[in-house]
Amino acid sequence: MLKRYLLAPGPTPVPPEVLLSMAMPIIHHRAPDFLPVLESAKTGLQWLFQTKNDVLIIASTGTGGMVGSVNNFFNPGDKVIVVNGGKFGERWTKIAQSYGLKVEEIPVEWGYSVKPEAVDAILKKDPEIKGVFVQATETSTGVYHDVEGLGKVVKKFDNTLFIVDAISALVAQDMKTDAWGIDVMIGGSQKGLMLPPGLAFVSVSEKAWQRNESSKMPRFYFNFKKERENLAKNQTNFTSAVTLIIGLNEAIKMLQKEGLENVFKRHARLARATREAVKAMGLALYSKESPSNSVTAIEAPAGIDGQAIYKNLREKYGITGAGGQDKAKGKIFRLAHLGYADIFDVITGIAALEMVLKELGYDIKLGTGVAKAQEILMQ
Ligand SMILES: *Cc1c(COP(=O)(O)O)cnc(C)c1O
Repeated sequence: MLKRYLLAPGPTPVPPEVLLSMAMPIIHHRAPDFLPVLESAKTGLQWLFQTKNDVLIIASTGTGGMVGSVNNFFNPGDKVIVVNGGKFGERWTKIAQSYGLKVEEIPVEWGYSVKPEAVDAILKKDPEIKGVFVQATETSTGVYHDVEGLGKVVKKFDNTLFIVDAISALVAQDMKTDAWGIDVMIGGSQKGLMLPPGLAFVSVSEKAWQRNESSKMPRFYFNFKKERENLAKNQTNFTSAVTLIIGLNEAIKMLQKEGLENVFKRHARLARATREAVKAMGLALYSKESPSNSVTAIEAPAGIDGQAIYKNLREKYGITGAGGQDKAKGKIFRLAHLGYADIFDVITGIAALEMVLKELGYDIKLGTGVAKAQEILMQ
């Protein structure tokens, strides 16, 4: 037998309480018994997003929420800025270009975070820019971008919407939608929210709803205005993903019981223990700046293939982390501490990593990383 552990930056483990809640018989999405379920999800998401805005609930993966955030607020030919510091930044560019937007990319070296001043300089030069797209956590590099700082910049420009992919950041990082001036923020079910894949969440500010009025892009499935009208009646435009929404309520209940500040503290602590443990093992972080609290990206030691580390963790020890993507493939591997994660997830991951590295010929005294993690987690 090989017991499985999921330490990937999505999908993430689902707590037993949430799994059980989703085992109930299906209820009909237009019947009266579903209305309080959606009402509760609606207010729960507003709590989590720290917003008074509508938070739409859409049956799709996170990328569906990203697509809707492009074709509900823009017109072909609109100029926008994309912060591209990894695979998910690149995805913003691809989506925006596929809808005919003119993208000015701010390229950010992988492993680094964007400087808000760089965005400010471009916006000052070109007030025609209609939107700024960024990731909160760039999952491919393990970097958290300074969303608060960027929000302060974009807020000064009345013509510009601030659109944040917080899919892997939500729950792990303090994301203050309203206080930071985020116009559109996207979350996904299979990351910090401890649910199976299948739901996207999108908060929309009044500034963005006004822009929606003049946006003429074709849309049918991801029609945010229709979703908003339905949400007001505790419904969704099409068949609600009833099972996932019931699970969502259970997950939010768990987070509320812990308290938002404690949830963030837990993630910060797990992330710090992971970082310090791998450093104690002589490894380098791939995130040179602003490492995220969701996932730690680690450089493979010289002469050892990052993909081999990832594969051996999974095949020999049942631990599914993540490898590197694109140009980081083979150079790095990643361990997440996101959602339903606690101290022994970190210790398990670090212990297995030591064993795998030793087997691959890396010179390490077993227990070095584990001891460091324990030390931090006991504080
Ligand atoms: C996981 C993830 C997504 C969405 O991926 P889906 O497979 O569409 O759910 C988008 N952005 C970031 C930063 C992510 O980590």
